[in-house]
Amino acid sequence: MRRKIAAGNWKMNTSKHEAESLIRELLQGTWGDEVEMIVAVPFTHLAWVGEWLGGDARIAVAAQNCHHMSHGAYTGEVSASMVVEAGAKYVILGHSERREYFDESDDLVNSKIRAALDNGLRAIFCLGEPLEIRQADGHVEYVLNQLERGLRGISLEEMDQLVIAYEPIWAIGTGVTASPDQAEEMHEAIRSRCTRWWGARKAAAIPILYGGSVKASNAHELFGQRNIDGGLIGGASLDAKDFLEIAKSF
Ligand code: PEP
Repeated sequence: MRRKIAAGNWKMNTSKHEAESLIRELLQGTWGDEVEMIVAVPFTHLAWVGEWLGGDARIAVAAQNCHHMSHGAYTGEVSASMVVEAGAKYVILGHSERREYFDESDDLVNSKIRAALDNGLRAIFCLGEPLEIRQADGHVEYVLNQLERGLRGISLEEMDQLVIAYEPIWAIGTGVTASPDQAEEMHEAIRSRCTRWWGARKAAAIPILYGGSVKASNAHELFGQRNIDGGLIGGASLDAKDFLEIAKSF
């Protein structure tokens, strides 16, 4: 059976105090044993969150980015090995905000995925089309292109370390969610393409998350789709009650 995942992307939010309260509230919550909860926190919070979790394996920690080089003169950057040392098990790569505000290309995202996997870090690889591409009915081709470019050179064995997140850009932070049918269409297309490349058994095991204005009120219907294995959640992950509701929506 495929893993089910509720991943929160805190983005550039939470003071140390707010982060600690959020983690403590999550730790008091309950959700299905089969659901893996992940919190993607700012770099500065990685080690603190590990301390607050106190070894509780129900919640995994993720970074929201890493650099593609192992070390060197890259002022202000953080490498994959540093992120691992700070306690992260996952890293979000290719988020549309990174692609848009920091000009991250598919090739750069591919190098970052390489760096993550080489350092034993699981990658949450984000894909998604802008509104004008969807309106022109080019969304499936666009996202499958991102998939192909981002995963170039990744081996069959390495696929086990990968989580894919489909996040239509028009749905991120907008309050507009893809309908379950729109999301399922894309998830099915991604899984079919993975089946073509790596075979049915591997493709069936890859978790594919949906992201884009997931809330407690729409999570159940989205997660009920055949090829949707959970969510990457921004805004609603900053409220422990909402995020716990979402984690219980499978
Ligand atoms: C995200 O940042 O990945 C995201 C999906 O944000 P939101 O849930 O706020 O739309």
